[in-house]
Amino acid sequence: MHFVTNAPILVRISLYLSIFCTIIAMDDPNYYAYQYNSIGTKPKKIHVLDSTLREGEQHPGVTFSNKQRIQIAWMLDYFGVDQIEISPVVSSDHKEATKTIIKQGLRADIVAHVRALKEDVDVALDCDATWMATYLGMSDIHLKDKLRITREEALRRAVETVEYAKSHGLKMRFTMEDASRAEPEFLIKMCKAIEEVGVDRISIPDTVGIMRPNGMYNLVKAVHDQIKTPLDVHCHNDIGFALANAFAGCDAGAEQIHTTIDGIGERTGIPALAETAVALTYLYKSPNNFRLDMLMDLSRLIEQYTNIVPYDSKPVVGITAYKHKAGTHLAAILRNPAAYEPIEPRIVGNRRRIVFGELAGKNGAAYLMSLLGLDQNDEHAKAVAAGLKNLRMGDLLEIPLDDRLEKKIINDTQIKVKPGK
Ligand SMILES: [Zn+2]
Repeated sequence: MHFVTNAPILVRISLYLSIFCTIIAMDDPNYYAYQYNSIGTKPKKIHVLDSTLREGEQHPGVTFSNKQRIQIAWMLDYFGVDQIEISPVVSSDHKEATKTIIKQGLRADIVAHVRALKEDVDVALDCDATWMATYLGMSDIHLKDKLRITREEALRRAVETVEYAKSHGLKMRFTMEDASRAEPEFLIKMCKAIEEVGVDRISIPDTVGIMRPNGMYNLVKAVHDQIKTPLDVHCHNDIGFALANAFAGCDAGAEQIHTTIDGIGERTGIPALAETAVALTYLYKSPNNFRLDMLMDLSRLIEQYTNIVPYDSKPVVGITAYKHKAGTHLAAILRNPAAYEPIEPRIVGNRRRIVFGELAGKNGAAYLMSLLGLDQNDEHAKAVAAGLKNLRMGDLLEIPLDDRLEKKIINDTQIKVKPGK
């Protein structure tokens, strides 16, 4: 009876809801994509540890000065990462940098990364660290050919290191190096043993980048099912799956992703901070306070300090990430940039660029003419487009769009091609 009385109201509510959703869908071009993305998952907080100062410095040819290390730490903190990793045991310079960065009292945790040895834990303590991280190879190849110890010895060493660090009041993360190639039962045994002695976080790395996303999901889930300690994922990019694997690990229960600015690191590196932060914000709807508009500046800073120029088409920070060239794309972009852009370039500190040349087409030509103050109509625009094509000189002109030109693109009715006479 009650239900029957309320039925018209329910029908009305569902009608209003569907109208509301349609309005949102019309307003947000990504609406349906986000709907697919969210099926079966709820947004959750995923943290970011940036390891530019540790993993990044392991990139061939990269070394920072202490001034640079301190500046990078400040900028990462201001950007909003949760933890910043640095290794104080590499050199006396690194130790000095670690000490100084810890003294800054930044909002992010500063994680002193050391080997699983008591004397290294002492170095972290000497730096006044609150957080430290250590690692030990878990796979048979690492145990046999790198460390030359048995599984039992590794277990003892890991437990002793955690006990030692915890007895000195440190918070600590333990990295199960080469976890993706370790014997599964031994890996779980190791995680349980260090959990018992109070480890604060456990990192599950794919050290050689051999996993596919589903494999990483299964690996992290196997550990997560047995362990309560919060998990990190540290995925290498040897086959190009680092970012996808890191997120697959989070889908399986991990709560923190390791990144570096521009993804620099050993060999082919790890997930780039820019891609991770944008994916967390827009694709995963993970709550955060990232200052995404710093991403280009962070990338430029690292480029300046390392001389490693990000490749043109690098997502988010690449020079062509927001460059539009083909005539059909240009025509759409001139009406509404969202037609070919997932998010606004200004959000990540990048800039939209348009390229005029043989692919510009009629609309591109008309826009170029309006920029030059030339009178345009359909026939003139067609003639200019044909002229650009006939020159066979590829891209002739590239225009970065400042605010004034952006407004012109969106609002200027002048660029609309008038019908020819
Ligand atoms: Zn690594």
